[in-house]
Amino acid sequence: MARSLTAAASPADVFPGSLAATTTIESAATGTDIIARLTDVEKVYESEGVTLKALDHVNLTLRQRDFAVLVGASGAGKSTLLNVLGTLDRPTKGEVRIAGVDVGTQSDNALSRLRLTSLGFIFQSFNLVEVLTVFENIEYPLIIAGARPAVARDRVQWLMEQVGLTGHRNHRVTHLSGGQRQRVAIARALANSPKLVLADEPTAALDSKTGETILDLLNHLNDTEEATFLIASHDPKVMVHAKRTIKIADGTVIEC
Ligand code: ADP
Repeated sequence: MARSLTAAASPADVFPGSLAATTTIESAATGTDIIARLTDVEKVYESEGVTLKALDHVNLTLRQRDFAVLVGASGAGKSTLLNVLGTLDRPTKGEVRIAGVDVGTQSDNALSRLRLTSLGFIFQSFNLVEVLTVFENIEYPLIIAGARPAVARDRVQWLMEQVGLTGHRNHRVTHLSGGQRQRVAIARALANSPKLVLADEPTAALDSKTGETILDLLNHLNDTEEATFLIASHDPKVMVHAKRTIKIADGTVIEC
């Protein structure tokens, strides 16, 4: 069954088998700033004899440091597009390339490794590991990726400074506010310096002031980390921060 970015996935769902994964991900082709490219992508769902085209001949290129907002009505195909870009679901047709890798030719283990090293995920409902502290939640993907303890510690420390949580280092995440939890989730998503960060309605569970602060933070990290962000959202505030708006309707991408 396909994993979903929007379902209540834990890091273990997003990176299953990643400890065992040893496949080396080829680096992006040199001389290009293309981070992700979808070519003629189709995603067809069939249930109870009914066929539904959730993505219809989608062509989309995301470049280094894009800060793009994906907008569209409910059912337009936003989650399906995020899941395909996040390699959590495979398209029915077409080619998906992430960080120079042709996703369709990769094993499940190789895709786990790709998600761990090149992709970051931010969920509406944070999806943190509740028994872990702030530090441990952010450190978790680094440990799975095999980072040396001192390197992991320095990276977590730096990320905690970036998201303003240094004072909460040893707090369990259950003791934090929604905005603080989303900050932990953002730091965790960036732990392994992903090339592409996918966020599904990251401000939907937050009040408007906190949502604004989170957007400022994402904008800041877009600059400092040089990562590409694609944010699915209905929130008009998110669109104000967009460097690029990508519209989707009935599974078809219409770029603005
Ligand atoms: P959005 O995120 O924009 O609300 P989705 O990508 O979730 O849209 O859904 C696009 C279309 O695909 C909708 O018509 C939805 O009902 C359908 N769909 C999504 N996931 C499945 C699935 N697993 N099985 C069947 N249909 C699905």
